[in-house]
Amino acid sequence: TDACLGAIDAAGALNAFVHHTPDMARDMARAADARIKAGDAAPMTGIPVGIKDVFCVRGVPSQAGSRILQGFTPEYESTVTQNLWNAGAVMLGKLNQDEFAMGSTNESSCYGPAVNPWRGPDGAQLTPGGSSGGSAAAVAADLCLGATGTDTGGSIRQPAAFTGTVGLKPTYGRVSRWGVIAYASSLDQAGPMTRTVRDAAIMLGAMASADPQDSTCADLPVPDFEAALTGDIRGKRIGIPREYRVDGMPDAIDALWRQGAEMLRDAGAEIVDISLPHTKYALPAYYVIAPAEASSNLARYDGVRYGHRATLGSGDGITQMYENTRAQGFGPEVQRRVMIGTYVLSAGFYDAYYNRARRVRALIKRDFDQAFAAGIDSILAPATPSAAFPLGSGDKGDPVQMYLNDVFTVTLNLAGLPGIAVPVGQDAQGLPLGLQLIGRPFEEGDLLNQAQVLE
Ligand code: GLN
Repeated sequence: TDACLGAIDAAGALNAFVHHTPDMARDMARAADARIKAGDAAPMTGIPVGIKDVFCVRGVPSQAGSRILQGFTPEYESTVTQNLWNAGAVMLGKLNQDEFAMGSTNESSCYGPAVNPWRGPDGAQLTPGGSSGGSAAAVAADLCLGATGTDTGGSIRQPAAFTGTVGLKPTYGRVSRWGVIAYASSLDQAGPMTRTVRDAAIMLGAMASADPQDSTCADLPVPDFEAALTGDIRGKRIGIPREYRVDGMPDAIDALWRQGAEMLRDAGAEIVDISLPHTKYALPAYYVIAPAEASSNLARYDGVRYGHRATLGSGDGITQMYENTRAQGFGPEVQRRVMIGTYVLSAGFYDAYYNRARRVRALIKRDFDQAFAAGIDSILAPATPSAAFPLGSGDKGDPVQMYLNDVFTVTLNLAGLPGIAVPVGQDAQGLPLGLQLIGRPFEEGDLLNQAQVLE
């Protein structure tokens, strides 16, 4: 814990931690020490971790990277973090992220962007990805031994791929969403970001639980994910979806994908070409459903109950207070999504956009169901269409171009499936590249076991 606290201080330029809790960390480390001496240690006991800002931690500012939650210190604890503390993990602080987890570069954060510890060939600063950019940067720079992330459309897997770390998005419902500040509730899922697949297995085991506080959380026992890491994947059937071979995919990604398939084949898996025909509709469906749910979830930030409130002029009424608060508190990306979401949910356009996107979502899920019913155990695909891009791309670029980067990640959120990004190779500039394995629902142990072959 002391080593991590020192490393965090020394790595301030990465802007990974946005709130430090050194006193809490030392107290928890001491308690963990006592627990270890008493012979009562769990696998996470004494392990220092960072927590994405979107998780409510009692007594610690929790803003989800947003100005509108300035001054909000929750009086309750998210189930995920409570589970981690019960397991003996040590809280180092809150990690940077895109505002309300909307983004792919960490640049929509009210704290400014986190920075990737990897540098471009000319020394250029790179984005660690997003929205869990602070988590990825912190794990890659050894500021913590693991971090929590959340993944609504790729926010665990994309930053993991951009920083050469491991990121696991569990099955929807494996991990409780209680106390996790909501983006799009039918897609959001928390998961671990770590250096190795084994660490991800251990950390998922500590984070997951059934939870009556979250009615979408599955009432299932949490298996021993680490015990599933046998290294034996003989006879597994791993699908290569032809629709993921998108136009303009860089050669390095294509080569990496083939290399990953080779590694799995060498370990005894059977590689099978498969088709997921509705893949091309996933991005548009995601960028209707996610903003729709976001516009509804973010309606609660009205200046009355939480965080920031605009100061009023003498003649201003409550409507003016709402408007000013939201105009000041939400950044441009969040405002854009609230507007998109409100539009697609409006009476005149509900059927044309929102209902149609829901039907597309069902078809995407059916594609995966059919592949699994045909005996496929997992699906291998790239995690991202490129390596990490320069810092500033998100701010300057066209938002639609940025949305297109989520092409490989959003499908499984729509289908509720688990997926893991594993660092497998490098591009010509030496930057890390990741592959993604998509698993059967609630079979994260099996997925982790197959993913370990790619490390
Ligand atoms: N980049 C995606 C988005 O902006 C993913 C975000 C996420 O998974 N939280 O919606």
